[in-house]
Amino acid sequence: MALPTHLDLQIVTPDRLIVQEQVDEVEIPGSEGYFGVLPGHTPLLASLAVGELWYRKGQEKFYLSIAFGFAEVLPDRVTILARLAERAEDIDIGRAEAAKKRAEERLSQPKSDIDYERARVALLKSLMRLQVSARVPGGARVGELKRMRDTGRG
Ligand code: ATP
Repeated sequence: MALPTHLDLQIVTPDRLIVQEQVDEVEIPGSEGYFGVLPGHTPLLASLAVGELWYRKGQEKFYLSIAFGFAEVLPDRVTILARLAERAEDIDIGRAEAAKKRAEERLSQPKSDIDYERARVALLKSLMRLQVSARVPGGARVGELKRMRDTGRG
């Protein structure tokens, strides 16, 4: 059987379909570490961590922030069922910075009535969103502009 030349990539969250495209390569933040997928990859199922996912179409790479869920890899198809996923250009930087500040404040409190695991995950997600949003060349404020538009302040 001939090897597939592309991958059909689908990325969905419980709310919506985020990506449905034919791509050449994907890198996935698995809970055991990042792994790359090219057409013809051995089938596998992996759980997802909080991390950056990118896919490549020709020379161009596209970045998303991903958190939790599963990836199913087949030789000609990658399906990502993520609990959270945002494209780099949709990330609201101001919101991520505020979430980072809140999480840092919680984690620095010596009191014991704090859910540290929750604060740790919130910090991780905010750091990942900030990292991924920085991938948008010159467009790092797009998410913020979208929010201003949505709230009628833009
Ligand atoms: P916050 O404390 O800022 O509300 P959160 O950690 O409570 O963040 P999540 O549970 O991670 O939010 O996500 C809830 C929804 O909001 C998801 O649909 C997620 O994609 C979206 N979201 C969260 N933060 C951002 C962001 N900075 N930019 C764009 N979308 C975001």
